[in-house]
Amino acid sequence: MSIPCRYYHEDYHRGRETKECRLIKRNPQSRPWKPGLCKTCPVPHILLHTNCQEIALEATVVRKWGLVDRVEVYAVCARHMIELEDPLYCPQCALEQSP
Ligand SMILES: [Zn+2]
Repeated sequence: MSIPCRYYHEDYHRGRETKECRLIKRNPQSRPWKPGLCKTCPVPHILLHTNCQEIALEATVVRKWGLVDRVEVYAVCARHMIELEDPLYCPQCALEQSP
């Protein structure tokens, strides 16, 4: 079963099994990604529901409470070059969308 996320990729080519998150892979600060993290990762929800038209995400795997790994997201609007406190909402994009 594959996870519906644009950053998740899996490949069963030639007997090899490769699964990776390309968002976390490109962040050298992150702890390593593992498949179970997708279950609690906020990224698919953000991509589906954000009002931001050009959201750019950075994801980091952090260890919570000393024992659980979680994906934390840092979001910017690439259209307005602002950090999004709430990745689901860009106030500038909202202004453009209001009539
Ligand atoms: Zn924006």
